[in-house]
Amino acid sequence: MEKWNLIIDVAECTNCNNCFLACKDEYVGNDFPGYSAPQPLHGHKWFYIESREHGQYPMVDVAYRPTTCNHCNDAPCVRKSTDGAVYQRPDGIVMIDPDKARGNPDIVNSCPYGAIWWNEDEQVAQKWNFDAHLLDRGEPRLRCEQVCPTGVFRSLKVEDDQMNQIVEDEELQVLNPEYQANPRVYYKNLDNFTRCFIGGTLVTIKNGITDAAVGIEIALTQGGATLQTGESDEYGDFKFNGLNCDSGNYTLQFHSSEYGDFEITTELIQSTYLGTLTLSNTSD
Ligand code: SF4
Ligand code: SF4
Repeated sequence: MEKWNLIIDVAECTNCNNCFLACKDEYVGNDFPGYSAPQPLHGHKWFYIESREHGQYPMVDVAYRPTTCNHCNDAPCVRKSTDGAVYQRPDGIVMIDPDKARGNPDIVNSCPYGAIWWNEDEQVAQKWNFDAHLLDRGEPRLRCEQVCPTGVFRSLKVEDDQMNQIVEDEELQVLNPEYQANPRVYYKNLDNFTRCFIGGTLVTIKNGITDAAVGIEIALTQGGATLQTGESDEYGDFKFNGLNCDSGNYTLQFHSSEYGDFEITTELIQSTYLGTLTLSNTSD
């Protein structure tokens, strides 16, 4: 049977918050019987954008990660619900029944991702129900998909085998796999949010004039193995992305026929800018 999934591309999010506002527009003050009670105007973030800033000036990266209910296949919230107030539909969508869930604030704590919110006015636990009321009346796209200007969201209703192939082909990841909840919300380019980089700037000084050292070959190694190779760009900058933070010592080997070879070893704890490195001509 085909089931719903959602792919979120971290690389494309600009933190405009349109998805957050569209969620508010859809649910605040609107009652969808059988699906969801009205969301309060304040306090709830059924969609929220987490941000991460890493590196040091002038080499700083910012990444944004939209976060919502993951519609887990082995959802702790469903497992802990003994009265059917939280349940998974055959199409994969995890729902909180707005009537059965009334008066039970413990439901909020059943989600390890913090995706469930308590509505004091309605006395009910709530979360994003995958716009199930819209899909059931034939809407082809989710509200977040409709409003995102950069195409971060892609919903798809496919067989699990097809989805597994897409996950493999596009190298998708889920949040907190250690929870063993098996989310149906997948992330593309999640490394932008979780991994670290080592970078720096290479310059030369000739006749008292500082200039970018362009096209210097650089190899990033660890424990004698070469992990990545690259060149300094037109500004003399180089950067190796996608490294695990707090992952020990790395050695950068620089090679230049004009300036000779040298290497630097650094410990990677958080994203690291090595600063401006000056090359000296071996014949000087
Ligand atoms: S993210 Fe939380 S609320 Fe959503 S299905 Fe998973 S456990 Fe349940
Ligand atoms: S609408 Fe798209 S770009 Fe804007 S915050 Fe949401 S996911 Fe990011």
